[in-house]
Amino acid sequence: MGTNGHADLIFVNGDVYTMDAARSWARSVAVRDGAIVAVGTDDEVADLRGDRTEVVDLGGRMLLPGFQDAHVHPVGGGLDMLQCDLNDHGSKDGYLSTISGYAKAHPDEPWILGGGWAQDVFPRGCPVKEDLDAIVPDRPVFLPNRDGHGAWVNSKALEIAGVTADTPDPKDGRIERNADGSPQGTLHEGAQYLVSKHIPDVSDDFVYQALLKGQAYLHSFGITGWQDAIVTPTSHYRNYEAYLQAAERETLTGRVVGALWWDRARGLEQIDELQALREGGQRGRFAATSVKIMQDGICENFTAATLEPYLDEHGHATDNRGLSMVEPELLKEAVTRLDTLGFQVHFHALADRAVREALDAIEAARTTNGFNDLRHHLAHLQIVHPDDLHRFRELGALANAQPLWAAHEAQMDDLTIPFLGEPRWTWQYPFASLVRHGATLVMGSDWSVSSPNPLEEMHVAVNRKMPPSYPFRVDNTEVFLPDERIDLPTAMAAFTMGSAYANHREHDTGSIEVGKRADVAIFDRNVFELPVEEIADTHCVATYVDGERVFAAADA
Ligand SMILES: [Zn+2]
Repeated sequence: MGTNGHADLIFVNGDVYTMDAARSWARSVAVRDGAIVAVGTDDEVADLRGDRTEVVDLGGRMLLPGFQDAHVHPVGGGLDMLQCDLNDHGSKDGYLSTISGYAKAHPDEPWILGGGWAQDVFPRGCPVKEDLDAIVPDRPVFLPNRDGHGAWVNSKALEIAGVTADTPDPKDGRIERNADGSPQGTLHEGAQYLVSKHIPDVSDDFVYQALLKGQAYLHSFGITGWQDAIVTPTSHYRNYEAYLQAAERETLTGRVVGALWWDRARGLEQIDELQALREGGQRGRFAATSVKIMQDGICENFTAATLEPYLDEHGHATDNRGLSMVEPELLKEAVTRLDTLGFQVHFHALADRAVREALDAIEAARTTNGFNDLRHHLAHLQIVHPDDLHRFRELGALANAQPLWAAHEAQMDDLTIPFLGEPRWTWQYPFASLVRHGATLVMGSDWSVSSPNPLEEMHVAVNRKMPPSYPFRVDNTEVFLPDERIDLPTAMAAFTMGSAYANHREHDTGSIEVGKRADVAIFDRNVFELPVEEIADTHCVATYVDGERVFAAADA
């Protein structure tokens, strides 16, 4: 605590991009009791320097408001990091050697768990059980892919779950099958649950450790706050308790809004439970005040809800329009009721029919309740029908974008574009169009689906090409839908003030201004000095929350 009006901490001699409304720059920032007390030139801030003031010389490097991630799964990501982690590989051989190495190193674990494989490594995105059987024949293996919408399992796991040629597909998923109907080894969407329900619960402490692991990883990219896109007290995940525990022990250094999971197998009767969870779910930096409704799946396995049918390999229309996870009339009722009760609704809305159904549900709530300040938001927005672009502004629905996916890479080029066809594939990730139509843009990563590094996300938002460092197969010769590029300040605003707004924290975070909390991050260079093709080469050096350092790079 500062005495005589002196600052506790001063950052001097830097390029401070404040992200205030004017997007102004400063040189120096002073912090007292965790709050920003001065922003200006080095001379202006020098007056606040006392004997006990810690001075950080930025040496010309860049200081930004801490990034906020509006859709992320830090506990799932942390669990991946603590288990059999396939995220950093891009080949079948790499996966198999990692899995067999992990199994050998953990002989006592009853299940081999973890995940993070990429669909484009396998024909049609579907790995087979025989590859796993060859390396782990005696224990069940359950490994979700990078986006969590499918899992690779071995024969032992299928045997424990009793999944055979005779098992019907569940309503919300699909068992990938061989010609004779036997399970091939990939389970899509809700079919994963046939096996995952047999996974023994991990310990509370393991979930807690996963949260801390995920949190540390997010801080290492300059992220100081986020919205956890699935918070639940049940399933093997149980991150609700982990957040409360971390808040209690004061180890929760991120500012977190939790989006409570809407159980799509149930109806409005679950709302009482959600209210109880919200009531008990506010402690320290954590507040479970949002509800997550997953309205569809993903394009790569044809479960994203489309207005027109998917095409087959020959470009002919199929009879598949994907899945509406919640029946649209029930969705309207649910959203209206949640809106009445003051919940923010966070939708997974990926393809054009799901986007429309989510917007229709918000419209129904507006019609019944009028406008309010709950800031419902739609995440993913891979395909938005042009007729719906203006509705985000009109309905006050935030566009929650995950920009890293807006590029020509294998999942896009091999598994998506051919099955969408013209003109629909050109409606993908329409960030510039949404901005032009007045939508409020917020951004997130969806980690562990893909990298949580906001510099990589912004790189793609600006360039619509993958960063050169991207570990998977990419085609960087062509810009992906160049008209939908946005500029760097717009992307940076979405990752700071935008996501702070989604979390109802724009009054005290999201920019470097006097009176706000000192949630800031230092980067190794001024990203504006580089050509835009090098945005992703900028790295976080240190991260602060409430003026306390929560991350420092090894060489800092
Ligand atoms: Zn997600």
